[in-house]
Amino acid sequence: MSDAILTLNAGSSSLKFSVYATEAPPALLMVGQVENLGPSARLKVGDEVREIGAADHTVAIRAILETASAVLAGRSVIAVGHRIVHGGEDYTGPVLLTAEVREKLAALSPLAPLHQPHNLAAVEAALTAFPDAPQIGCFDTAFHRGHDWAADTFALPRRFYEEGVRRYGFHGLSYDYITGVLRREEPEIAAGRVVIAHLGNGASMCAVKGGRSVASTMGFSALDGLAMGTRCGQLDPGVLLYLMERGMSAAEITTLLYKESGLKGLSGISHDMRTLEASDAPEAAQAIDYYTFRIRRELGALTAVLGGLDALVFCGGIGENSSTIRARVCEGMEWLGITLDPVANGANARRISSGPVAVMAIPTDEERVIAEAAVAHLA
Ligand code: ADP
Repeated sequence: MSDAILTLNAGSSSLKFSVYATEAPPALLMVGQVENLGPSARLKVGDEVREIGAADHTVAIRAILETASAVLAGRSVIAVGHRIVHGGEDYTGPVLLTAEVREKLAALSPLAPLHQPHNLAAVEAALTAFPDAPQIGCFDTAFHRGHDWAADTFALPRRFYEEGVRRYGFHGLSYDYITGVLRREEPEIAAGRVVIAHLGNGASMCAVKGGRSVASTMGFSALDGLAMGTRCGQLDPGVLLYLMERGMSAAEITTLLYKESGLKGLSGISHDMRTLEASDAPEAAQAIDYYTFRIRRELGALTAVLGGLDALVFCGGIGENSSTIRARVCEGMEWLGITLDPVANGANARRISSGPVAVMAIPTDEERVIAEAAVAHLA
C-alpha cells in the first residue's frame, strides 16, 4: 500500500491541510482546515465541523491526524509539504527545510510579517509530529524569480534593491499549477503569451511567456496590484505619507491596508464577492466597478509587457466561479482579440471565448503543486 503526504498552508488564524496518497500523480484522500486557531479552534472537513478547543499549530496537526486516521487507513505520513509565502531571492523551486534553510526563511519574516512566521510555526509543529519525515517548502515567490531586472525593481536608490526591496510577486503555486495544466492540455497556448488572473480573497495577475513568469501585479508585499477582499491593491505612496503625517502608526496602517480596504472598504458591506454580487447597494456596485477596472487596466499593461496575448486564464474563487466578473473584465475587449462566448461563460466551461484570444476558466490547485513537490523529493 502507498504511504501518505500531508500538505499544510498556515495562516495567522487557520491551518489548511490536505492528505494525499503517495502515488504518481498523488491521489487526494482528504482536504480541510482548522479555523480560529487560539482559545476555541474548530476543524472543518466539508460540512463537518468539530470543536477542538484551544489549539496552536501543534495541537491543530494532532487534531488533523485524528480526523485523517480513517482515510489514512494505516498509511504513514512520510513527507510534509508546506506553502511558504516568501522564498526571498534565492529559492526558485521547492526545497528541503533543513535547519539552515529554516533560519534563512525566518530572516525573511520582516518582508512578509503577516504570513512567514505562521508558515514557519507550522513547519516546527510538523517537525515535532513527524521528526523523520522530510519537510518540503514550496514558495509563492519562486515562480517569479526569473524576472528581468526592470520587472524586479522599484525606482529607489540601488541600496534598497540590494537589501531585498524587490518585486517578488506571489501566488506562484497557483500560477505553477495553471501553467502545468496548459502544458498538458494546450501546449500551443502554453508556449505562447498568457495572462493568468488569480482572483480569490487575495488576487494578482501574472504575465507568462513560454511558461515563465515575466511580470506580476504583486510586488514587494501581497498588497500591490489588484484590489482584493480586504487589501487595497495599488496605492500612491503619497497616501501612506499622508496617513503617517496624520499620525497613524505603522500597525494602524497595516491593519487598514491588509484588513479594512479592498472590496470590504469600498463597499462598506463585505469582502466577499458573492455577497456584493447579490447586493442592490450602489456601494457594492461601485466596489465591483473598481475591482474590474483594475483588472482591465492590468490586463492591458501585462499584454504590453508580453507583446500581445494568446490566452487569458481566470482562476481563484472569483475567477473560477463568477461569470459576471469575467464578463465585466472582457467587455469591450474585442480590440485585443477577446470575445466571450456567453453560454460557455455562464456554464463555467473551461474555454469560454469565441475570439482569437483563448479565454479560459481553470480551477487552480495549489495543494497539488505542494504534494507533487513532496513526491518528487521522495523519488
Ligand atoms: P482564498 O484566496 O481565501 O483561497 P478563494 O479562492 O476561495 O479564496 O476565493 C474566495 C472568493 O471567491 C470570495 O470573494 C467568494 O465570494 C468568491 N466566490 C466563490 N464562489 C463564487 C461565485 N459563485 N460567484 C462569485 N464569487 C464567488
